[in-house]
Amino acid sequence: MGIPLASEARLACLADRAPTVATLCSHSSLQIFHGARVEGLPTLGISVGKPPRFYDAFPLARPDRFVSVPRVKDLGGAGVPLREAGAVIVPHGSFVEYLGSEAFGALDVPVFGNRAVLAWESDRRKEREWLESAGVSMPKRYEDASEVDGPVIVKYYGAKGGKGFYLAKNRGALAEFRPTGPYVIQEYVLGTRYYMHFFYSPLSDRGYRVGHGSLELLGMDRRDEANIDELYKLGAQEVLLKAGIRPTFVVTGNVPVILRESLLEKAFEIAARIVERSIDLFGGMVGPFCVEGIMTEELEFKVFEISTRIVAGTNLFVSGSPYSDLIEPGLSTGRRIAKEIVRARSEGRLAEVLS
Ligand code: ATP
Repeated sequence: MGIPLASEARLACLADRAPTVATLCSHSSLQIFHGARVEGLPTLGISVGKPPRFYDAFPLARPDRFVSVPRVKDLGGAGVPLREAGAVIVPHGSFVEYLGSEAFGALDVPVFGNRAVLAWESDRRKEREWLESAGVSMPKRYEDASEVDGPVIVKYYGAKGGKGFYLAKNRGALAEFRPTGPYVIQEYVLGTRYYMHFFYSPLSDRGYRVGHGSLELLGMDRRDEANIDELYKLGAQEVLLKAGIRPTFVVTGNVPVILRESLLEKAFEIAARIVERSIDLFGGMVGPFCVEGIMTEELEFKVFEISTRIVAGTNLFVSGSPYSDLIEPGLSTGRRIAKEIVRARSEGRLAEVLS
């Protein structure tokens, strides 16, 4: 038996009925609704204002019904009938970003996964404490600009899609940086980026065993980031600045990638350590998460970030990926979430996957 995350009172609204998979109409919602539908769960789309019309274009991913709110911030309000609908919220990146971590934590509706993870993910210092204490290698962090001894990336706090990040080739170039908010200075790692989509099931007793359950790799992507990309990033910086163009890392899309097969062992070990440490620190991370890092030429994987919910890169794999097809053909992350909810319900273990 795993760790219960949700109280009986919170789950009371799910008694005697199939949970309705609900999420905000954005980000990876098409995939989430499609996966729920394939697994036989009802679906509910939460839209800000009128439901987006593009859902009509995707009949297999259109939610059964919609609830409209004036603003995302109104979602937790009394007038929004989520408990009445037997909703289980599947949070995605935009959901948490738009609602705010405090309001998300306070939602009175069951949420898929452990909401306690947010406190550890949204604060870059706590995230580093978690990952480093799990033995994961991360880009070096400089406490002060005077310590800088190579290329660096300066990041603001919070998930802002890399907006406003500053690259400096060396300490001298960093002196020109004018901060507009709290930031950290990090070693700029040269290598190849991989965004690895994992899923931790505390219910599963087969496969790659970790903690009380097991770990699955469902896919992998690389982000297209405007207006900069790949190796010329640092070299182009000065030329671009002269032309008045500041490099940004704003995500504009995703491309599928796979890892050299011999590196998979390393990838699983890193993800497993992150899960095991999460169990010690806050009762465990449940469901989808993404390990985001850079493979150096020495084949060392340096993790710069972990996203602890479904990431938009999984949208590439609505009908399966080169990895998930080896678990079950056609398995998307959205569908995997629905499967976990269905199984938890049938085994009377919803409290272990919802919070
Ligand atoms: P999001 O939460 O939307 O993923 P964010 O604002 O938290 O974004 P990061 O994910 O930390 O930002 O970084 C954004 C991008 O910056 C990465 O996708 C990667 O391309 C680049 N990057 C981040 N850290 C490093 C690093 N240490 N070295 C080189 N590139 C990096």
